[in-house]
Amino acid sequence: MDFSGKVAIVTGGANGIGAAVARGFVQRGGKVAIVDRDAEAGEALAAELGRSTIFRAADVTRAADVAAYVQAALDAFGTIDCFHNNAGIEGKVAPTAEYDEAIFDAVMGVNVKGVFLGLRHVLPVMLRQGRGAVVNTASIAGLVGTAGMPAYVASKHAVIGLTKVAAAEVGPQGIRVNAVCPGPIDTRMVQDIAKQVSPNNPGSVEARYAAGLPLRRYGTAEEVANLVLFLCSGLAGNITGAHYVVDGGRTAAPAGIS
Ligand code: NAD
Repeated sequence: MDFSGKVAIVTGGANGIGAAVARGFVQRGGKVAIVDRDAEAGEALAAELGRSTIFRAADVTRAADVAAYVQAALDAFGTIDCFHNNAGIEGKVAPTAEYDEAIFDAVMGVNVKGVFLGLRHVLPVMLRQGRGAVVNTASIAGLVGTAGMPAYVASKHAVIGLTKVAAAEVGPQGIRVNAVCPGPIDTRMVQDIAKQVSPNNPGSVEARYAAGLPLRRYGTAEEVANLVLFLCSGLAGNITGAHYVVDGGRTAAPAGIS
């Protein structure tokens, strides 16, 4: 995959999966606008990756911030070839019967409205250009339920819905829109979930979950980035409206009988 001369925006690009995508894109010759509300980590990553990178602090739930990061990318690099619509939060682990309304709204705000606003502001640019590829970060929680995460599961199902709608709308203009569905990936997000489930022994939560995976381990951010970069690249030229798991086999074979 060669991204020479190509420009990507990566939201949630300061940490975890988004940071791995930003790194992978720059390593393959591309230019990247990193977007995140975590300014400290975002500035540090942009400094590490050098002149092919800018960082823009933004809250993806605010339309003005979204318009500003799109404009900042255009001002810096002139085009937007790839958009990794990736920022997300996990919310709290609690049953639906007890789930906090404000946390539900916050999760839907980042994971659904944030993804919608990204599409709303990037697609017009890609339509003007007559080219572009979008990858939305959903989750295996967009495909199957998991007790204790009603907002997260609902939000990630919605991301897959938005992906299909956008793909249908902009496909005729040659723009592709796909989603990735990571399983457990070793980032701050899953560490936070494990701490919520077992504050005194989060490692035991991760070990138990990993033992039920066919590959017996959590994935890495780089392994998700490889799929995102492939979907951004010309190698995926006939793929749109699709979603792909990268989950160590979790959805194919949840915890076995033996
Ligand atoms: P992470 O916490 O390391 O990264 C998420 C990034 O999004 C952070 O840098 C955070 O600051 C940023 N962010 C959150 N809210 C934001 C907002 N309102 N505006 C701007 N930036 C915001 O976690 P990650 O695992 O890299 O998560 C990336 C994506 O992958 C998320 O959409 C997440 O739901 C999804 N995902 C993660 C896993 C996993 O196991 N880690 C599994 C499936 C899906």
